[in-house]
This record gives sequence, C-alpha cells and structure tokens, in this order.
Amino acid sequence: MKPIIDHIGIAVSDLDAALAFYRDALGLELTESEDVLSQRVRAHFLPVGQVADGSHVNLELLEATAPDSPIAKFIDKRGAGIHHITLRVPDVAAAVAALKSRGLRLIDEQPRPGAEGSTIAFVHPTATGGVLLELKQAAPAAAQVRESRVFRYQLGDLELISMCDGFLALDGGAMFGAVPKALWEKKTTPDERNRITLAMRPLIVRGVRTMIIDAGLGDKEDERFRDIYRVERERNLDHALADAGLSVEDIDIVLATHLHFDHAGGFTIRDGSGRVRPRFPRAQYVVRRGEWEDATHPHERNRASYLRDNFVPLADAGVLQMVDDDQTIMPGVRVRRTPGHTAHHQIVLIESAGKSAAFVADLMPTTAHVPYAWIMGYDLYPMDTLASKKAFVEDAIEHETLVFFEHDPTVVAGYVRQQDRRQVVEPAAPGSVT
Ligand SMILES: [Zn+2]
Ligand SMILES: [Zn+2]
Repeated sequence: MKPIIDHIGIAVSDLDAALAFYRDALGLELTESEDVLSQRVRAHFLPVGQVADGSHVNLELLEATAPDSPIAKFIDKRGAGIHHITLRVPDVAAAVAALKSRGLRLIDEQPRPGAEGSTIAFVHPTATGGVLLELKQAAPAAAQVRESRVFRYQLGDLELISMCDGFLALDGGAMFGAVPKALWEKKTTPDERNRITLAMRPLIVRGVRTMIIDAGLGDKEDERFRDIYRVERERNLDHALADAGLSVEDIDIVLATHLHFDHAGGFTIRDGSGRVRPRFPRAQYVVRRGEWEDATHPHERNRASYLRDNFVPLADAGVLQMVDDDQTIMPGVRVRRTPGHTAHHQIVLIESAGKSAAFVADLMPTTAHVPYAWIMGYDLYPMDTLASKKAFVEDAIEHETLVFFEHDPTVVAGYVRQQDRRQVVEPAAPGSVT
C-alpha cells in the first residue's frame, strides 16, 4: 500500500493566536489535544478532510511544554511554521527497512511509540528534499483497541493474553475521587451523564497451566443495571476466548483480584433453568480469604459492589480455594495484597526468564491513575491505596515491569517511567517483552 497523508505538523509559539486563526477564523474544529511526553509537546488536532479508509487528515498544532522540547528548539532556530509532514504506512518497520536498504538517512533507525498508540519513525530532511517527514503506523489506535479483544504478549516462557469483556461507564467524579473535574476531564471525556468509559480486560496467563485473572462483568445483570453502567458487551469475553483459540474448558485456574461485579461477574453464569453455576467448568477459583469475608458480609458502603450470585455459587459448587497470604499460585505467578481499594485487594505479579509483568486491577485501574494523588472515590481506604501504589510504582520503575491496566479503554499495558517528578506510562505494543 502506498503511503497516505495523515497530518501536517505546525509548530506554534502562541497557541491562542494559532487557534484564533485555524479554529475561529477558518472554522476548523479542535477535536483533541494530547501530550506526547517523550517529546515534551502538546499536540492539538484539527481535522481537514478524510481519506479513503475513513480516517481523518489533521492539522496538528504543536505546542512545546518545556524549554528543552524539540519544538521549542525548532522555533528558536527557525521560527514558528510547518514543522513536519506525516504519511501513514501499513508497516512502519518495513518502510524503515526499505529506506535503509537504499542508504537513505533516517532520524529514527528504529520505529518508536508516537501519539495515540501509534508507531512512528522520522526520516531526515536530507533524504526528503528538505522536509522533516514522519512515517506513522496507526495501530493499535484507540478505536482499534476498542474493536480488538485480544492482545498477546510473550514474557519469557509465559504467554500473556489480554482479553476483553466489553466496556462499562462509571461516574467520572467517583473514578477520580478528590481530583477536580477541571483536571480529569483533560484525560477523558465524560458522557452527558458524567460517566467515563472503562474497559474490562481480564488477563490469561498460559504456562504449565492456563489461568484467567478476573473475568469481567458477565451477563447476569438486568436492563436497569445495564443502563446505569452503560454496559457495552456486544463483543465480550466469549468472543475474546474464541479469538484466542480458547474455550471455558481450557481454563484451569480463575484468580480473583477482588470480588467487585466488574471483576467477578464473569465467574458464574445463569443456565437455562435459572440456576447460577461456575462458568469455567474445570477450574478452581482462587480468592483471598479476607476479600471473601468482606464480600459475603457487606456493609452499606460496599454492598452495591458485591453481588452474591457472582461468587457464592462457587462455594456451593466446591470449586473455591482460599489464600490467606501472599503466595505463588502457579509457577511464575504470585499474588500480593495491596490494601486500599478494598482491605484485601490483591495484584498479580508475573515473572519468567528475568522479565516481570503485573496485573494491577483496581490499584491503578487506568493509566490516568498512576500519579500518586489520582485515587478513586470508590476506594474504601484511600491512604492505604496511596501507600500500596507508591510501593508498587517504585518497584515497577526499577524492575521495568510491564503493567496491565484492566480498565483503561485504550492502553492495554505499558511501562511506568519517572519523568522529572511525575510518573508516566509508556504504552507497550503486543509482542515479545525484551
Ligand atoms: Zn473494584
Ligand atoms: Zn474495577
């Protein structure tokens, strides 16, 4: 496939003046703004057309967010103006290899992550007739992440398969606790009922046995529930299992991070006779004892999150295994209690061949919850969340841990990096963890 136009990048020194022209005078719509942390730049997108595959062509106004940003340096040297042109290619690694084989000069010898989960590489202006040219592979873009249900990562000897049980929407204020809407709405756009979209992504770990960690919402809830939480499950865990070449019979172990309905709802199904039974017929279900006690003895504050049909039938069926402390559940997979969201919430630490990954569930439900103060209003013990999160994040940065974000609608997994005094996430594309 031939490269097609994606966007034209314009370095601006005065964003308000640029918007006064492009948006107000020219009538273009500003649809999105995004921070590209690695470049210390904020990109503002204004669509100016559509190409054959339905994607938009944009003007991209580039605003430096730090004095050492490449955009700030560009403006210092050459003034504001056109900075680069971006062409979209189906396979950026192949495009880079093809240019290299012709001896053409590249700025990026290896493709690297760009905005919106894209992969990019810049070609040097000496090769292009003086134009800074960006090649971009748009996958997995946010929309594609929402369509695709299965993302495979290889961690040493273990295969990690991110599944999806669809999406739901929770109150944006509750999701961000004490963080003002003026701040969180820059990260995510609420709907007309102030709800934000969240994914439900259980993780399958394939090693000596096949494990699923959490299982999404399932389909036992009624119309009223589905309306309150804007449940979108047209494509759900059953489809994801099929896409991964698996079925419910393949699962040996179901591991619960905690028993809230968006994690444990998929543990059981209601059969034709109306009876609720375990969904994974061969599996043992592993639950932390303290969490089980809380879920089966709820109080007014947590009652709405613990729906008995999601877990009591497991005890009745004799498939429940309680764990009392941090321990190994199968080779390479262990649990660690991280109190805060609930008193006995646990995360899952995965290790193989010296590489590490973590499934952090509601300790950090999305990438927006990585900064220490961004703690959910849902959390029962927010100060415990703070301590659990700090300890985990420091460890994850030091050990280059691949972190899976169960509820993030667009980022399946990524690495936490320290940038100045902030913790930020660099998304990780599927594939082998190196
Ligand atoms: Zn929860
Ligand atoms: Zn949750």
